[in-house]
Amino acid sequence: MITSLSLQDPELDYIGVSKRDIFNSITLEDVKFFLESLGVDQIIVNNEKGYLVCPTICHNPLEEAESMKLYWYQQNKSFHCYTECNENMTIFKLYQKFMWINSNLNISDEEAEEYVKKCLKHINTVSTTKNYSYLYDIDKYRYSNNIPQLEEYPKKILTYFTKYYHPTWLREGITREVMDKFNIGFSIAQNKIIIPHFDIDNRLVGIRARTLNPEEIEEFGKYRPLQIGDIMYTHPLQFNLYGIYEHAAGIRTRRSAIIAEGEKSVLLDSVYYGKYANTVACCGSNFNKYHISLLTDYLGVNEITVAFDKEYTNCWDEKATKYRNKIESMCKKYTNLASFSYIWDYNNLLKEKDSPFDRGKEVFEQLYKTRVKIR
Ligand SMILES: [Zn+2]
Repeated sequence: MITSLSLQDPELDYIGVSKRDIFNSITLEDVKFFLESLGVDQIIVNNEKGYLVCPTICHNPLEEAESMKLYWYQQNKSFHCYTECNENMTIFKLYQKFMWINSNLNISDEEAEEYVKKCLKHINTVSTTKNYSYLYDIDKYRYSNNIPQLEEYPKKILTYFTKYYHPTWLREGITREVMDKFNIGFSIAQNKIIIPHFDIDNRLVGIRARTLNPEEIEEFGKYRPLQIGDIMYTHPLQFNLYGIYEHAAGIRTRRSAIIAEGEKSVLLDSVYYGKYANTVACCGSNFNKYHISLLTDYLGVNEITVAFDKEYTNCWDEKATKYRNKIESMCKKYTNLASFSYIWDYNNLLKEKDSPFDRGKEVFEQLYKTRVKIR
């Protein structure tokens, strides 16, 4: 039986735990906790037989994963997908796949290891590392819907960045005033626009950065968590909405919210509507029950509009229809919580890949007026 090395050793520093140690000591409960931390809510554990079943998040975005065909086997400590992937994968590999599918992030082996470590309760409870905290505190569920409170980063870090209003963003219509409101900064050393993410209580829970280095864009994409030294200012995007704090007043007043994909849409909405702005971003192309719950349970929203990027050229062709079905089915899951609509570009006001906010206030209003209601 594999028991956990010197895990009882009070001197054990979790930093010293190697990948093999993690791998050997992982329990079914850890795997369940790991999956929950990603936002998976259908998990069947069979302790007796030593396995666990969950939806196939290995090849589907979280909200589309429905078929219960992904198994974890305690005996060989690996996942197996019985449909599309049809292969074994380690927990690290699954995390990498998940982050790629849901957040377009290329996670390194080290980052995957780091994340999985944070999910090992038995290791973390004996950790003597003082500064270490969980990715979130599992005991601090705040809402009825179990939205975990995320780890908080010291805000002091934000004072290290330059207050430089980057011309590319100014040109796109994001004003200085709004950049200040959202604490947008600039890192000269890394050549990146700094985008702090706050939770609903104004706690700094993550920092993402828009890189301006072409090589980095090629390798990792335009947006990714900021890293300074050893610290990666990452956070699980599935438990927070960008702009939820800054736009809370507008959302509460209007009792409605708009969910966009990217941070820039939130900033532009702020430019257009000031204190009545009500857009938040899920920072990906999926929203989940935690996102919806933040809006409905916490801010009293009863109408939600999905304003995702235009992923089609011709709004009637097959590609567009597929995209449309995806948005509609995501909305339909939550129609018991709020009424839903989504923006659809019938009149070709946007270019492909544009967000509905990208072509100015008039265009946005036109799109908003003709939004499609989910019935
Ligand atoms: Zn799969």
